[in-house]
Amino acid sequence: MSITVGVLSIQGDVQENILSAKSALAELGLDGNIVDVRIPEEISQLDGLIIPGGESTTIGQLSLVNGSLKIIKEKIQGGMPVLGICAGMIMLSNTANDRIVGKIDQPLLDVLDIKLERNSFGRQKQSFESDISLGSINIPKFNGVFIRAPSVSDVGSDVEVLSKFNERIVAVKKGKVIGTAFHPELADDTALHKYFINLINTSKN
Ligand code: GLN
Repeated sequence: MSITVGVLSIQGDVQENILSAKSALAELGLDGNIVDVRIPEEISQLDGLIIPGGESTTIGQLSLVNGSLKIIKEKIQGGMPVLGICAGMIMLSNTANDRIVGKIDQPLLDVLDIKLERNSFGRQKQSFESDISLGSINIPKFNGVFIRAPSVSDVGSDVEVLSKFNERIVAVKKGKVIGTAFHPELADDTALHKYFINLINTSKN
């Protein structure tokens, strides 16, 4: 059984995620393909999708215009596993307010019952790295890379909190939908990509 994992390549950390996912696949010894996707026809073929970090307003607007937003939402609602990273997690949410400018009208997927504060830890120059823990998915120590990262200010009752940093929620999961405020593709550690690819593989079998 072979799996096909897509990285949404509209804007953002696409190549880094393709490399991390390829390494994870090889380390797990699984058969599969990691592909960059942008149009509905490509997305409809996938067993799992990574929405990378970047700029959520750009990813949202362009995927709305090219028709991908709708098909991504339908696929996730149909059970496709998805990993949303930073801007990608913002895309999964139902409410995203910027720390400075508050609410703006940006297209979101609304597949995860979470409310977010965008740019929660400050601007680009306030980017930082810190050890974090995702104990409930057996990743006790992970290098969290935070770049203009959001934090989750509210979670629905069925959303599991996977990690907190300084009392702020930075990783969440509901079923096969995972969001992280930090960038696992920049961590020099494929643990989170391996966890996600395993999830896709077990969902398909
Ligand atoms: N601040 C960006 C946004 O709001 C996210 C930053 C990132 O993905 N590294 O979309």
